Amino acid sequence: MALNAQPPAWVPGRSAGRWIALGALGGLMLWLLAATPLDPLELGLGASLLLSGVLLWRVRRLHRRVDHTCAELAHQAALARDASLNLQARQQAEASLRDSEERLIGIVNSAREAIIAVDENLKVALFNRSAQLMFGYTEQEVLGCGFERFLPDVLREAHQRQVEDFAAGQVVSVGMGALMQAMAVRADGEKFPIEASVTRIMHSGRPLYSVIISDITLRRRNEERLRFLASYDQLTTLPNRTLFHQRLERALAHAQRFNKSLAVMFIDLDRFKIINDTLGHQAGDEVLREVSHRLMDSLRETDTVARLGGDEFAALIEQVTDMRQTGAIAEKLLKAISEPFVLDGHEHSLSGSIGISTFPGDGLDGPTLLKNADIAMYRAKEQGRNNVQYYAPALNFHSVERLSLESGMRRGLLGGEFLLHYQPQLDIATGRISGMEALVRWKRPNTGMVSPMQFIPIAEETGLIVQLGEWVLREACEFNQSLRAAGLPPVRVAVNLSPRQFAQSSLVADVARILDGSGLAPDGLGLEITESMVMGNPEQAIQTLRRLKSMGIALSIDDFGTGYSSLGYLKRFPIDYIKIDRTFVKDIPDNMDDGTITRTIIAMAHSLRLRCIAEGVETQAQLDFLREQGCEELQGYWFSRPLEAGAFRALVQTQLPVPELFAA
Ligand code: C2E
Ligand code: MG
Ligand code: MG
Repeated sequence: MALNAQPPAWVPGRSAGRWIALGALGGLMLWLLAATPLDPLELGLGASLLLSGVLLWRVRRLHRRVDHTCAELAHQAALARDASLNLQARQQAEASLRDSEERLIGIVNSAREAIIAVDENLKVALFNRSAQLMFGYTEQEVLGCGFERFLPDVLREAHQRQVEDFAAGQVVSVGMGALMQAMAVRADGEKFPIEASVTRIMHSGRPLYSVIISDITLRRRNEERLRFLASYDQLTTLPNRTLFHQRLERALAHAQRFNKSLAVMFIDLDRFKIINDTLGHQAGDEVLREVSHRLMDSLRETDTVARLGGDEFAALIEQVTDMRQTGAIAEKLLKAISEPFVLDGHEHSLSGSIGISTFPGDGLDGPTLLKNADIAMYRAKEQGRNNVQYYAPALNFHSVERLSLESGMRRGLLGGEFLLHYQPQLDIATGRISGMEALVRWKRPNTGMVSPMQFIPIAEETGLIVQLGEWVLREACEFNQSLRAAGLPPVRVAVNLSPRQFAQSSLVADVARILDGSGLAPDGLGLEITESMVMGNPEQAIQTLRRLKSMGIALSIDDFGTGYSSLGYLKRFPIDYIKIDRTFVKDIPDNMDDGTITRTIIAMAHSLRLRCIAEGVETQAQLDFLREQGCEELQGYWFSRPLEAGAFRALVQTQLPVPELFAA
């Protein structure tokens, strides 16, 4: 049945009309009877006709009533059926609503994002499982609470204003659907970055705002890491080359605009390779990290220090007013680098070489300034390291020269361009020649004699020193053996070892082989090492030195006083001589400090039962001072410059004690 079926209408007006019509008809018949003379038969027939008409009418009326009631009943039945159908439908609808709500809650709870729904009063109406995990509240704890509890203090005020605006019917500035990034706060107070979007939905005819939130801590961390990797050196956390150039460009733009100067420094660690080679990369890394800290601590916060790679660093010094200022800064950096390092419980020392270029004098753009600082740094290396050089246009030539030195040396080694000079060492007590130091020379075609100060560092860096050093050792042993074979008074030849040579694991075997090959007895050979060489890996150095010493070779520490000058290690190393560095001898006896240092070194050596040789003795006054302090031997221009082999042989042949020694 259709839901809109109606019962048959009951029309009281029509029924009254029928009664009136019936009355009128009866009246008319009575009038006709009265007016017309009828016989009793006709009258009886007429009356029975009238009566049956009335009866018929009543029966028909009853029928109609029954019909109506039936229709009424059918209608009621239809209504009842409709109602039952409606109930079923409602129950079904409610069940499916419940079902879909449950499904919805299931979906909402399974979402990885936190979903917080707030009602029209901005109170929490839904707080899904991810939200509970993310914020650390249960749903019960936050239902009905304001959204502000998820915001850090700094955002609460702004949020409160928005709530008030919202309550006043104003448009809230939160963009519906747009992604926003902000900070949120967990139940334990921890702040974390989020990305959120707000959507307005209608629920049961009322608005609901659903905030979908992702915790972007990890993403932020990754982004930061990527940014860090792109601009910073991982090992030292200093800015890398890229960031250095960016900062340099910015500083240049500023300097140009305000007519200021700036300086670029190229800093290179001297002989860092040796630390890496002898102590391993881990120790090398530690040194690089420590150097980075020291460089940073030595500069102002406004300056930049960067690691360009390997053992190369660069510094950007802004707002330079005076060139002397950059010199002082560079000296400070060198001093910081040369402070001892403790590696594996032992002290080690390093030095650095620094080249400086300035804007606008030495270049107008970043790459030029850095390149020129690099060239100046090479000049600093050539000058004997541990020093600072300013860029000068002529230096470009030096870097070209450096390359040609390297290839020339390779050719020179093959072509026999190297030779040895021998500088006599004198026994102060007897005035006799006790030994000689072999000093390498390079007679370069078309150039002349090249100083070892120039080519030894390059040979060391390129590794050529191993080949060159072996040649020096063989040549010196053969020469001394030739003196001994000629029956001359026996002297000892001292050979300088380079750090790289000393680090060679084959050193002891090489020395033994060369001695053997030359026929020289081991007491005819001395080896000179420097403090820094043994400090690289003291335990290994002790082993090497012991083996050399046990062969009968004399060992000396060269240039003593310029490195660690530590009594502690001297005691542990099986050495025979200390060579007092020329820098202390130079100004004695006039310079009180140098006098004190020299006196102390000699006393210290004696307390360890070591002999002393003073280097660079040029004057009688120096000699007198040294003799007074009990220094055993001397070497220097006062007695003789380094001599060619033939000249040295002739000198030893005279065998005469030096008379001036006894003049005082
Ligand atoms: P060193 O081992 O300290 O050698 C002493 C240096 O002082 C020599 O310089 C010598 O000529 C110089 N000298 C000696 N007496 C005087 C003096 O009275 N006054 C002055 N002003 N100088 C004096 P040289 O020959 O130029 O050698 C310089 C450095 O080159 C040496 O310093 C040494 O470290 C290195 N060297 C020389 N030959 C070799 C070598 O065969 N192998 C290695 N690895 N290094 C070498
Ligand atoms: Mg020497
Ligand atoms: Mg020396």
